Amino acid sequence: MDVYESALDLIGGTPLVRIRTGGAAAVYAKLEYLSVGGSAKDRIGLRMIEQAEKDGLLRPGGTIVEATSGNTGIGLALAAAEKGYRIVLVVSDRVSAEKVDTLRAFGAGVVVKSSGLPREHPEHPISFAARLAETTPGGWLANQYDNPANPEAHYLTTGPEIWRQTEGRVTHLVSCIGTGGTISGAGRYLKEVSGNAVQVIGADPASSVYSGGDGRPYFIEAAGHFVHPDTTRDVWPTSYHLDVLDRIVPVADRQALDTLRQLARTQGLLVGGSSGTALAAAHRVAAAAGPDDVVVVILPDSGRQYLSKYFNDTWMLRLGFLDGDETAARVADAVPEGSDASPLPYVNTRADIAEALAVLRARALAGADPVLPAGPCPAGPERRPMAPELTGSVSLSAVEAALLHGTAAPSDRLADHLEPPLPHIGYGEPVEEALARLARHAHDTAVVLRDGCAQALITSSGLRAALPTPR
Ligand code: PMP
Repeated sequence: MDVYESALDLIGGTPLVRIRTGGAAAVYAKLEYLSVGGSAKDRIGLRMIEQAEKDGLLRPGGTIVEATSGNTGIGLALAAAEKGYRIVLVVSDRVSAEKVDTLRAFGAGVVVKSSGLPREHPEHPISFAARLAETTPGGWLANQYDNPANPEAHYLTTGPEIWRQTEGRVTHLVSCIGTGGTISGAGRYLKEVSGNAVQVIGADPASSVYSGGDGRPYFIEAAGHFVHPDTTRDVWPTSYHLDVLDRIVPVADRQALDTLRQLARTQGLLVGGSSGTALAAAHRVAAAAGPDDVVVVILPDSGRQYLSKYFNDTWMLRLGFLDGDETAARVADAVPEGSDASPLPYVNTRADIAEALAVLRARALAGADPVLPAGPCPAGPERRPMAPELTGSVSLSAVEAALLHGTAAPSDRLADHLEPPLPHIGYGEPVEEALARLARHAHDTAVVLRDGCAQALITSSGLRAALPTPR
C-alpha cells in the first residue's frame, strides 16, 4: 500500500515549482505550505520535541510551552497531538485570526498578549512564555529563538531536499529571516555540500533591523526583527547564524504585498506575507543572475492563513496599501499637496502633560479643539510613525478638564492619560466611506495612511472638499 503511518511522516518533503520571472535565471519556489501543518515550521516543531525527549527535558505527561507567531505553534501542536502532550502557546495580538483558530483546532491552549510591549516587559509573549514554562509542572519551553534543533531541522531536511531536487544545480538560496533557523540551517548545508558555491541571501522587511532598518513596525508577519522604542537591550536569536549569509535584500511591505497578490492571480499559488517578501527579493536576485543560475526561494506558508489581511481589500485599503478606484473621490484627493514632506503633527507618549498642553495650545488657533495622535516613537519628518505606533491620542479639551479636576498633574507622563487612537483611513479609500467611519469617532480628525505609514491629519470638512460639488 502507498500509505503513511502518521501525520509526522508528512512533515517536509515539499516540492519545487518554477516561477515565471521573465529573467534569464530559473527561479524555483519551495512550497512549504504543502507540509502537513501548512508551513516550514512543521520541521522544527517535530525536531525540537524529539531532541527534548532525548535530552530528558520533555517527559510523558509534560506540557510544551512556546511564544510563536503561529506556524511554530502549529508545528509543535500537531506533533504534540500525535504524541499526547499538552501544549500552551503564547501569541501577540497581531497574529492573524486564522492562525490562532488553527492552534485552538489542534487542541492547544492559546494565550494572547499585547504586541505593544518591549521585549524585556514581563507581559511580552517571549518573557511570558518563559515564565509559564517555569511555573508549569512538567513544563518545557521549546524556545525556537535559541534552540539549536531549529536550524538543525533545516540543515537535516530543507537543505538536502533542495540539493537533491535541483540535482546540485542550485546557485542561490533566498529565504526570509525570523528566528533565522531556516536560512541558517538550509544555507549552511547548501554551502557545505557545494564547496561554498551556493550564495545565501536573506529577504527582509525594509524596516527590520536585520537589513539595517530602524526596527519600526511593519505588516509582514513572522519575518524580520522589530524593535520596540522602549527596548533597552535588543536581543537577536542565536538560531540566526549571520556567518552563513552573503547578503540581505530589504523589501518594502508594499512590494511584498503586491508580489504575493500578483502571484495568486497569475500563477495560481496562494502564499503568505513573508513569501511575498522572499519572492520579491528572489526576483531581484534573478534579474542580476545568469542563464545557468538556479535560484531557489523558500515560501514558508500559505495565503489561506492571511485571507483576513493581505487578501482582504478592506484591510489593504484602510492601511493605504491599495490605490483604490481612481475614478471616484478618494482620500488621496483630499490630502493637501506636499503633506508627504512635512512632519506629521504628533506627540510622543514619553512627553509630560505640560509639554503636550503646550503643543495643543499652539494649535488651538487653527482648530476648535485640537487633537493629536500620540505614541511611543520619536517624531519628525525622517521618522514618520507607522500605524501600530499610534497607540493613542490627546486632545486639548480632555487635558484641560483633567488638570482642572485634578485627575492629572502637569508632570504626569502623557502615556498614563491617553485617549483612544484616532481613526485611520487609507489614502485610496473612497471619501464617502472614510467620512462614514470618521463620524463614529469622538474627535473630528483622522490619520491618513499610505503604505501603513501616517502621512497627514484630516478633518471631515477637509475630506468633503474632495467631493464633487453638486450641480
Ligand atoms: N515566514 C513565516 C510565515 C514564518 O512563520 C516564519 C517563522 N516564524 C518565517 C517566515 C521565518 O523563518 P525562520 O524563523 O526560520 O527564520
